[in-house]
Amino acid sequence: MDYKVLYRKYRPDNFSSIIGQDYMISILKNAIKNDKISHAYIFSGPRGTGKTSTAKVFAKAINCLNPTEDGPCNKCESCLHFKENADIIEIDAASNNGVDEIREIINNIKLAPAYSKYKVYIIDEVHMLSTSAFNALLLTLEEPPKHVVFILATTNIEAVPITILSRCQRFDFHKIAISDIIKRLNYVVSNENIKIDSDALEEIAYISDGGMRDALSILDQLSSTSEKITIEDVIEHFGSVSKKQISDLYQLILQNDVDNFDKMMKKFKELAIDYKVLIKKLLEKIEEEAIFSKKNSEYQGLSYQQLKEMAFELADISNYVNISIDPYLLIEITLLKYFQNTMKEEIKTTKLEPEDQKIISREINTKSMTNIKTPDSVVSENNEEESEIISREIISTPETYDELIKVRVNNCFVNAKKEYLQKMKELWKTFIANLKDKNLLNLLVDCNVVTASDKIAVLTNLVDGTANLINGKLKDIEDKFNKESKTEYKFIALSENKWNEEKQEYIINLKNKHEYQYMEEPELKEVTENNIDNIEKIAYDIFDKEKIEIE
Ligand SMILES: [Zn+2]
Repeated sequence: MDYKVLYRKYRPDNFSSIIGQDYMISILKNAIKNDKISHAYIFSGPRGTGKTSTAKVFAKAINCLNPTEDGPCNKCESCLHFKENADIIEIDAASNNGVDEIREIINNIKLAPAYSKYKVYIIDEVHMLSTSAFNALLLTLEEPPKHVVFILATTNIEAVPITILSRCQRFDFHKIAISDIIKRLNYVVSNENIKIDSDALEEIAYISDGGMRDALSILDQLSSTSEKITIEDVIEHFGSVSKKQISDLYQLILQNDVDNFDKMMKKFKELAIDYKVLIKKLLEKIEEEAIFSKKNSEYQGLSYQQLKEMAFELADISNYVNISIDPYLLIEITLLKYFQNTMKEEIKTTKLEPEDQKIISREINTKSMTNIKTPDSVVSENNEEESEIISREIISTPETYDELIKVRVNNCFVNAKKEYLQKMKELWKTFIANLKDKNLLNLLVDCNVVTASDKIAVLTNLVDGTANLINGKLKDIEDKFNKESKTEYKFIALSENKWNEEKQEYIINLKNKHEYQYMEEPELKEVTENNIDNIEKIAYDIFDKEKIEIE
């Protein structure tokens, strides 16, 4: 069977056979119905999502002599001769830079269409045009004759000049939903009498990643080699990984079977399993387990917290896995963290957390007390130094940390740079090596510097409790560090979990071109009216209310 047969054969010839882009199709249909055809459209979106197909159906429909509700009639003169119609001009900007073609457009554009109502120019991968071709195109887009329609298509809208975009009606094509692809594949296999197991068909939809063209190509290839397509065929030929394999992998983690886990990961690599599919499937497994763990009190797997952490770490890998030498290795190392030996350690540290919190709050409570004057102590005034210590401890409540973390991480992102991070890592290493204060050393020894600007460095620690303890001693840490390194750095600590969330947000913001602006830091709070209430409440437990006066 010819490789592209199915894909060509099932290329949409009316609007209802374009899958998964209902919203845009309805707008185009309305435009035809109301005779409001724009002179320029731009279709953007991933490959195989129907941009060119839609362009062709639309071009056919606006030239059709008897258009129907569903677009072209496919029976009239115009429809029947669409393929050889000289008024439909297709240009693939990917195969050449297009200057000559665009020049030709300009030269011929004034000529009326030879056979049809509209001359339609479909320019595929328009972002590949050279600058001079774009400039030439721009001229024609500025004042196009009435009988001309441009349909530009691109997989990279960011690379299309804004001057072009502003003259086009824009349509964003999105990846086609798996359920829609399954529906279409089912239609094709029953029409073509192809024998395929339903899980194999779903797997094809899955690995085609929202592209109908890929889904049909895969189906095509498999149907030419197998009598009946099974899930094993799909996995073997298209670098996928089955649900069972993912489930086995998870079991190996739970059973602490490092050897077989390692073997399995190596096998994935050997089979060239698509690592993106692998990560995606692992994430789905994690979601499944997380839901199961919440529903069953006797759930034996990893804790919800660990699953969440694992999900964030895997998602994180997929952000830079493209440039890494061996993505399988990164995935393996990430998953190894969740083997039992490490789990024990983590459980131990996690258990410390509530204790740590108690210690902090006990400290706050006792120190706060010293600032409350019972009638007896009114005579002995607090000295300045002591009240400063008190207010510093009062700011160290978990709520204030959250605010401070938010602000300092944000301010660090304003001009975080790789070279600052490298320099800071060096300075931090020296600082830790020379640190004499044992308590501080215990607190900081497991910290990592994860990002830095010229003013702020972000530290992470495995558990929230430790990070908060560090934040309670920031002033001390900063003083010591800056004195030794002759810098003026500020620090902030957060758990690895929280950091992963911040990182995700940063990446999203980066994509949306959000610019970070400096935020003002929350002030170190003096004993103000707001926290007097709090102190009063604490004091109630110990003193008779009548005798308390708060400064
Ligand atoms: Zn027609």
